[in-house]
Amino acid sequence: LMPDDIKKKLYPAGEIVDTDSLESMEERNEKQKDERIFCHRCYNLLNYNRVTTDTWQESLTTDKSILSFLKKKEDAVIVTVVDIFDFPGSLLEDLDILIGTDKQNILVANKMDLLPNDVNEMRIKRWLYEKCKKFGLTNISDIFLISAKKNWKIQELAQTMSTIRSGFDDIYLIGKTNVGKSELINSFLRCLIVDGWRHKVTSSPIPGTTMGMLGLPLTLFKETFGVNPKGFHFPQTSKHLFDTPGIINKNQLINLLTEEELKITIPQKYIKPLTFALTPGKTVFLEGLGRIDYVDGQKPIRITVFSRLKPHLTSMRRADEICQSMAVGDQTFLQPPIFSSKRKELFPAMIKCIKNYAMKGTPGTMSVKDVVFSGVGWISFGGMFDKAVIDIWSPNGMGIYIRDKPL
Ligand code: GDP
Repeated sequence: LMPDDIKKKLYPAGEIVDTDSLESMEERNEKQKDERIFCHRCYNLLNYNRVTTDTWQESLTTDKSILSFLKKKEDAVIVTVVDIFDFPGSLLEDLDILIGTDKQNILVANKMDLLPNDVNEMRIKRWLYEKCKKFGLTNISDIFLISAKKNWKIQELAQTMSTIRSGFDDIYLIGKTNVGKSELINSFLRCLIVDGWRHKVTSSPIPGTTMGMLGLPLTLFKETFGVNPKGFHFPQTSKHLFDTPGIINKNQLINLLTEEELKITIPQKYIKPLTFALTPGKTVFLEGLGRIDYVDGQKPIRITVFSRLKPHLTSMRRADEICQSMAVGDQTFLQPPIFSSKRKELFPAMIKCIKNYAMKGTPGTMSVKDVVFSGVGWISFGGMFDKAVIDIWSPNGMGIYIRDKPL
C-alpha cells in the first residue's frame, strides 16, 4: 500500500485514489496534457493561431487603464520588459509621467539569444540606461539581459525579484505587445517549483494575446531559492508577480501583417548578420517592409543587416519600379507580405518618411547608426565614410527609429 504522503506527491491536487486504479505517471501526464482546460481564446490561439476579440477582452487591454491603475499603486515594483531586437521601439515612452517616479523599476531586455554572442553586456546595459533616461524612464535600480525562450538569466532575475523590498510589495510586469512577457512567465514556471507540475501560459507571435492579469504568488520564488545568498529569510507573503496585458504598439510594422506573415517575419532564433557594401545611388530593401536609398555620398558604406527578412540590393531607379509592382519580373520577391494580388491591393504603400538624413562617418568604428524597422530588424551603418545622405521608407511610413549609439 502506498503511504498517503507519497500518493499526495504523485497526485498534487490532493485527491486520494484507490491503489488498484493507480496509473503510471506517464499515462497520467499524457492524460493531463490532453485534458488541459483552455479558455475559448487560448484554445483558438493554440489550435488555429487565431485571436478572438470579445468586447470585454478589448476593454481590458486599453493602455490607459493599466497605466493609471499602476500610477495609483504607490507600493508597486515595476518590471519593464523590452525587446532588445526592437529597441527603443518596444519601450513605453514617458513611463515616469505615466506611472509616477515613486516606483522602483527593473528593466528586463529580452530576446538576447537573437544577438551575436560576442556582444559586450556592460556596454549594452549602459546604452539601455542612457536611452531609457532619454525616453522618460529614470528610476531604474537594475537591468537584466535575458532570453525568456532559452531561460538565460532567469534564475538571477527571479532571485532579485524574490528579495526586492523584502517581498512586501506586488510586482507588475509591463511592456508593449510582443516583447515576450508571456514567454518570461513561462520561463519562470519552467525554472521554479510549481507543485511539481508543469504549467504554461500561451505565448504567441500575434500581438495583444495576454488578457487580464495573471498572478504568480511570490512564495513560489521563495520555494525555489529558500534562503538567498545574503542570508535573508524570505517572509511569509501573500504578494504576487502580475503579468499585465501588453500595451499595443500602434507604430510597429508587424501590426500590418497577417498571422502567416508574422510567423515568417518575427525572429525566433539567432540572427546571422549579413554585411554588404552599399554604393551611392543604390537601394537596399528589407523585403516589402523597409527600404533605404543611399542618395548622396562619395564612398561605398559597409552595411550590416540584422533581420529574418532577406535584404535585396538594387539601383534607386529600379527600386521605384519595384515599389510600384512589388515584384521583379514575374517573381514577387518582396515577401512578406505574401503578395497575392488581393493582399497587394490592401497593403499600405511604401512611403519615404525620412528624407535626406545626413550621417557623418567615424573611421575605425564598427557602426555609427542603426536604422531600426520596428519588430522586423535593423540595418547598421559602418563608420568608414565622410558624409552620407540617405532616405528611409516603410509601409505607411511606420515603425522607423534611428539609433545613434548602436549595439
Ligand atoms: P507578449 O506579447 O509580450 O506576451 O509576447 P510573447 O511571449 O507572446 O512572445 C512574442 C513572440 O516573441 C513569440 O513569437 C515568442 O516566441 C517570441 N519570443 C519571446 N521571448 C523570446 C526570446 O527570449 N527569444 C526569442 N528569440 N523569441 C522570443
